[in-house]
Amino acid sequence: MSRVVVIGGGPAGMSAAIAAAENGHHVTLLEKNEKLGKKLFITGKGRCNITNSSDMDVLFNSVMTNRKFLYSAFYAYDNQMVIDFFEQAGLPVKNERGNRIFPVSDHSSDVIAALQRVLKKDQVEIRLHSEVDTLLYEDSGEEEQKKVCGVRLSDGEKIQADDVIVATGGFSYQTTGSTGDGYRFAKEAGHTVTEIRPSLVPFNAKEDYVREMQGLSLKNVNVRIYRGKKVLYDEFGEMLFTHFGVSGPLILTASAMIRPDIAKEPLAMEIDLKPALTEEQLDKRVLKDFEEAKNKQFKNSIGKLFPAKMIPVMIGLSGIDPDKKVNEITKEERLKFVRLIKAFPLTLNGLRDFNEAIITKGGVRVSEVNPSTMESKLVRHLYFCGEVLDLDALTGGFNLQIAWSTGHLAGMCVE
Ligand SMILES: Cc1cc2nc3c(=O)[nH]c(=O)nc-3n(C[C@H](O)[C@H](O)[C@H](O)COP(=O)(O)OP(=O)(O)OC[C@H]3O[C@@H](n4cnc5c(N)ncnc54)[C@H](O)[C@@H]3O)c2cc1C
Repeated sequence: MSRVVVIGGGPAGMSAAIAAAENGHHVTLLEKNEKLGKKLFITGKGRCNITNSSDMDVLFNSVMTNRKFLYSAFYAYDNQMVIDFFEQAGLPVKNERGNRIFPVSDHSSDVIAALQRVLKKDQVEIRLHSEVDTLLYEDSGEEEQKKVCGVRLSDGEKIQADDVIVATGGFSYQTTGSTGDGYRFAKEAGHTVTEIRPSLVPFNAKEDYVREMQGLSLKNVNVRIYRGKKVLYDEFGEMLFTHFGVSGPLILTASAMIRPDIAKEPLAMEIDLKPALTEEQLDKRVLKDFEEAKNKQFKNSIGKLFPAKMIPVMIGLSGIDPDKKVNEITKEERLKFVRLIKAFPLTLNGLRDFNEAIITKGGVRVSEVNPSTMESKLVRHLYFCGEVLDLDALTGGFNLQIAWSTGHLAGMCVE
């Protein structure tokens, strides 16, 4: 039986602590916050999208960075095992759109409570308000590989351990405790940390008119993002206007899929507001609306086409005099208006920062970690799991699956 110290009481750390304890080890879980799972609490807008029940291909394809590294972790502890774990821990779950799994109660607090019940049953020693300052290493001869032997807390206390699992998370939403400490531990251990960047994050837009539409959510639209003429992103779904630009599922996903140096080189974005209609069909529809309102002013004739908040913006961009009688609108003006509906223009000129990023791209270089065990290849008995690693996925429960799987594998493999 080994003494195992897990640093970080997020999903990866709790998963690792449970697996190690169930394997017969004495486990101490160190969390610097006053409670476990502070970030987990805010996941899925407070509902916690625990995992995704799609098949393995979808799971792997939803991982954006270093998916091959996850082969052992995903197979050792897959989405069904996560679902079974929670059901057995007294948390019924349900399947929603896109195979997203949520607790039936819709409360992330119930996910945390279920984990806490299992941690208690498995006699994991939980120490809150315990911030790790440094990892401790055994004095080893020159030729021998470095070996970790414990941690020192920020109050100076030393805790000896046979194995140390680093599950400190990434660098986003830092008020939840993910302040990037694990990157420092990794670097001090001799590891490389790849460049970290916010991901699954909203964009800034140049145009002032986004502000007029802030809070407006558009469903069933098509978003296209271009660099010059090259299409970088082309997807259907839901998006949101904010006071600074654009957000919502389509936009967050776009941020994970394109690699923009966007501050230097803004990207053009177009929203097709009526993707179910071809330009011709839409023109017929607009003609019909115009005919029904032929004696009205233009500004009073397009209420059926857009949500109220969009109308002044659409009028402004159309170039048509808002007071013009509909039957005086020329064919050219109407066709330009149709084009505007099919390609509403925006310029993306920046990403929001880590405070608004669902996930951190980058982290501990995975080629320096054994994918079958999560153990460091440089330091014996040191393990990494969760978001501290250079792994990230799309929204839909996939990031938490990474945390559960890599945490479980690390916990299983400590000796
Ligand atoms: C708003 C939001 C919503 C999200 N929604 C979802 C969702 O619905 N589904 C999904 O799959 N993913 C979601 N994610 C992503 C998901 O939350 C993360 O991928 C996941 O929490 C990463 O788990 P982790 O255990 O690696 O790190 P974290 O959850 O960040 O946990 C790390 C823990 O380590 C502790 N810690 C750090 N340094 C130290 C130290 N020096 N000493 C002691 N403790 C330390 C921190 O306090 C923290 O509790 C969301 C993220 C955000 C920000």
